[in-house]
Amino acid sequence: MLLLKNATFIDWQTFAFKTTNILVEEGKDGNIFFYDRITAGLDAGKTLDCTGLLVTKSFACGHHHVYSALARGMPPPRQAPQDFHEILQHIWWKLDRSLSPEMIRASALYTALACAKNGVTFAIDHHASPRAVEGSLESIAGAFDEVGIGHLLCYEISDRDGEAVARQGLEETESYLAAGRQGLVGLHASFTVGDDTMGRAVRLAQQYGSGIHIHVAEDPVDQKHCKRAYGKRVVERLQDFGVTEMPKSILVHCLHLKRRERKILSQARSCIAYNTESNLNNNVGYFDSRGLGGNIMLGTDGMHSDMLRSARAAYFVGQGFDDIGLPEAYARFRKVHHYLRENNFSGDGDNNLVVLDYDSPTPLHPGNFPAHFIFGLEGRHVRHVISSGKLIVRDGVVQTVEEQEVLRLARGLGARLWERMGAVE
Ligand SMILES: [Zn+2]
Repeated sequence: MLLLKNATFIDWQTFAFKTTNILVEEGKDGNIFFYDRITAGLDAGKTLDCTGLLVTKSFACGHHHVYSALARGMPPPRQAPQDFHEILQHIWWKLDRSLSPEMIRASALYTALACAKNGVTFAIDHHASPRAVEGSLESIAGAFDEVGIGHLLCYEISDRDGEAVARQGLEETESYLAAGRQGLVGLHASFTVGDDTMGRAVRLAQQYGSGIHIHVAEDPVDQKHCKRAYGKRVVERLQDFGVTEMPKSILVHCLHLKRRERKILSQARSCIAYNTESNLNNNVGYFDSRGLGGNIMLGTDGMHSDMLRSARAAYFVGQGFDDIGLPEAYARFRKVHHYLRENNFSGDGDNNLVVLDYDSPTPLHPGNFPAHFIFGLEGRHVRHVISSGKLIVRDGVVQTVEEQEVLRLARGLGARLWERMGAVE
């Protein structure tokens, strides 16, 4: 077992501080034990001196996209996209159609590495690779396991690439769930999923006691399409399929909603995940929590793996468009742990910890912790990371994989991906 000596532990729910020694059990969903004094044998395993360092629960991401990891710095599309639908057509759908199995693995290794270095020990991912569907989830899971990041994956099923690819998405999902892996049933968004595919996905989720992970009303195009094709709003359509009644369902974005949709969501069992920086980047609008209830968590939408950054963006942008104070920003940042625990998902137990070297210029105490959290804490403060009891980052360096090797692999395959994208229509 790992011993964290002389640590200042901050309870992530009560903000209670205590300076103590922490013994960390290894394995999924293990415990931690506090000892005010180090007795004989307690330090028999690995020990880390945490004098002057803060220890608290590590972080988790409520909505990520492994598939976009190799997009950073890629050449812009020949034709500048004019709206959200064109951003998807000319950038993201071109990118995900160009992904090969090796690129998926490199994207997943890099994403897991970036999560680890930012103190994020669990990621909920939504993956698409329409020309390399089969085996993609197992490949991502393998890469995450290798780095030591907990995961809840799904494949983004859609009709946008035709019937055969939609069927492959359903099959990939089923084989992953049937293998006993914890996962969700992913759908791209209402406007690319017809009733037949949606029905099959929901039945699959019911069969395996899972939930649906879907983008919802990210842009008005989703609502316009739904109204035209089905005569109802997106949230109403999802309610009619039973998606909002599944406690494991994650509805992502939820930007363009009418009051009656907000009411449905406020009474729903599903959870909302939103991604402020992605919304700013795509210029699709602003999240407003009013009338949505409290089931709201944060993600990165694949833009990066730094959840502290997501929380800060949600707080600052929310000053103009939402009703969000410091405690609420912190609560949304931590909501993902409740979602995972209440739904009995494994890999986010108490033995997931981040050790912070926080150089605060002012006093820090339980009463002002949320303010330090938003205005002070950054990814650079992450010194050590413990995932399911295992030390996966020590002094800022990932211990489980060779960082430089992962980066080299990603850069090589990233360049290949951009070449392929130039050829794909
Ligand atoms: Zn997304």
